Amino acid sequence: MSADIIDGKAFSEKVKARVAAQVEILKNQSNLTPGLAVVLVGEDPASQVYVRNKNRSTVAAGMKSEEIKLPASALQEEVLAVVNRLNEDPTIHGILVQLPLPEQVDEMAILDAIDPAKDVDGFHVVNTGRQAVGLPAMVPCTPLGCIMMLKDRIGDLSGLNAVVVGRSNIVGKPMANLLLAENCTVTIAHSRTRNLPEVCKAADILIAAVGRPKMIEGDWVKPGATVIDVGINRIPAEEGKTRLVGDVDFAAVKEVAGAITPVPGGVGPMTIACLLANTVTAACRIAEIEEPRIT
Ligand code: NDP
Repeated sequence: MSADIIDGKAFSEKVKARVAAQVEILKNQSNLTPGLAVVLVGEDPASQVYVRNKNRSTVAAGMKSEEIKLPASALQEEVLAVVNRLNEDPTIHGILVQLPLPEQVDEMAILDAIDPAKDVDGFHVVNTGRQAVGLPAMVPCTPLGCIMMLKDRIGDLSGLNAVVVGRSNIVGKPMANLLLAENCTVTIAHSRTRNLPEVCKAADILIAAVGRPKMIEGDWVKPGATVIDVGINRIPAEEGKTRLVGDVDFAAVKEVAGAITPVPGGVGPMTIACLLANTVTAACRIAEIEEPRIT
């Protein structure tokens, strides 16, 4: 039996439409235009594509979009100065600093400088802490998109065994917290985990956030499980070209799983939609307007 394919692209279009509708209401009823600023340091080609897509989607949703580009040689103080200016700018409600940053710039210091109220990526320790103790917080976009797809597919996640492979601060850990908040029994696996295939096989929900092409094999997956593939890996393809694959061996796993997200077209589009939704949320919280339920 072949798994259902979870269409993240189609789902993200619905979320973006909800965002655009809310933006329209905020403009008309509260004279508020949510604004998102994206800071790009350097010329990493993948980051440039992400930033371009984010800006395009922000404008399409009717929001203000600001793109700040700094050279790869930018010093820590220069990046900090930009963040501080955006913190003070009343027309900007969301600030995203595209990672990775060049090595002379301390990533943690930059993330720490972002006003937590404008931290639409949800990486500031204040938001991480608030999320961990169950207080309202800006939730990282990628895990938020994953949980939305899971709830849409499964409904109540309560009591299910969830395994998250990967423990990064931006995906694995917040993902595990969100699953815990949905009353899943959560296991976090990583590079030191013993018997990883066995651990994965116990999962009703399997999240792969590793960065290793096609690592999760067909016989690692429980029949009928829901598999969310966060990985984005570029591998060589025919005629000197490249293509994107996830952390899951899609062809093998789709023969076992009950449902699976593809790469591309799964988690990636949902991440951008959640970024827009977080910007609307941030704008409402800053303006002390009742926030709409988009996610
Ligand atoms: P990191 O490199 O920060 O973390 C990778 C995690 O995988 C680490 O916790 C690491 O363990 C673990 N790991 C590495 N090798 C193994 C292994 N052999 N077995 C088990 N665990 C392993 O990556 P990110 O979390 O930032 O990203 C993960 C993937 O998701 C990447 O492909 C990235 O491109 C993608 N991504 C996609 C997004 C989207 O929008 N779709 C957004 C963000 C990321 P340890 O901690 O022990 O080193």
